[in-house]
Amino acid sequence: MAALAYHDGEFVPLERAQVPVTTQALQYGTGVFEGIRAYAQADGGLAVFRGRDHYRRLLRSARTLRIDVGPDAERLCEVTAELLRRIGATTDMYIRPLAYKRALLPGTPPGVQLTGVSDALTVNAFRMGSYTDRGGISVAISSWRRPDPGVLPVRAKITGGYVNNALAVDEARAAGYDDAILLNGRGQVAEASTANVFAVVGGRLVTPPATAGLLEGITRDTAVTLAADLLDTETDVRDLGRDELYDADEVFLTGTGAEIVPVTGIAGRPVGDGVPGPLTTALTTAYHEVVRGRDQRYHHWLQAVGPA
Ligand code: PMP
Repeated sequence: MAALAYHDGEFVPLERAQVPVTTQALQYGTGVFEGIRAYAQADGGLAVFRGRDHYRRLLRSARTLRIDVGPDAERLCEVTAELLRRIGATTDMYIRPLAYKRALLPGTPPGVQLTGVSDALTVNAFRMGSYTDRGGISVAISSWRRPDPGVLPVRAKITGGYVNNALAVDEARAAGYDDAILLNGRGQVAEASTANVFAVVGGRLVTPPATAGLLEGITRDTAVTLAADLLDTETDVRDLGRDELYDADEVFLTGTGAEIVPVTGIAGRPVGDGVPGPLTTALTTAYHEVVRGRDQRYHHWLQAVGPA
């Protein structure tokens, strides 16, 4: 497999995809990004999962930071497929697009700003297997709060915002947990470090709303859709208390990287019986059928990469 990136409009060797130290986004965190997966398909070949939805979100995030990404979502999907073909990818891949503030335009004085600065786009991809073989994870309730949307627009996937997530992960790992769930300023569940949170409470599936201060995950949407279509389970999108999490029968996280991962321990307490619950297990199975192209009904979520 070749190490390549799509950088400033060209496909280049990965080591040439570099930025100068003066890059505005490096100094101020003014970039937006995505994490997308491509999966080896059951019938051979590779396909990008919900790429168009990820790129639409990238463009929305970019608007918040006044970043002109350049290509539209369709073109970004084509660029991604072309990158994977040129890399010669045949196994599961993770794709990382990043659009960012690059350099001050002539006449712009230095400073923290979103105008008078040029924009740039880079996309790289690397091999990343599925997490399926992992059992449940343990999570801490972070002492770090998710910023209120009035403080930082967390519904946009902004690089600088991830300092909050990194602090939460660091604290959780130092205390022996796998990940962290962050509460918002009101003490309600917001999300995990890089995933959304679902709980089975009193037989109902619950996930917090966007107004709780979270990134509206594409995997979250997939989970809601598959639960309704395949498991006859509607999701209540409503505020979720920390106390409800402690009391939940099942808890799981959803994210492109994490996929659907059972949470079997929270803050030192077992979730339910301390093993992945039936709904989580059924949803995980359904998810893997869908991303591998084994379920015809969701082929519209898959974009074939095509032969190299
Ligand atoms: N919340 C945060 C903070 C994330 O970083 C991610 C990963 N992108 C998610 C939720 C899940 O989003 P998605 O399912 O679109 O990957």
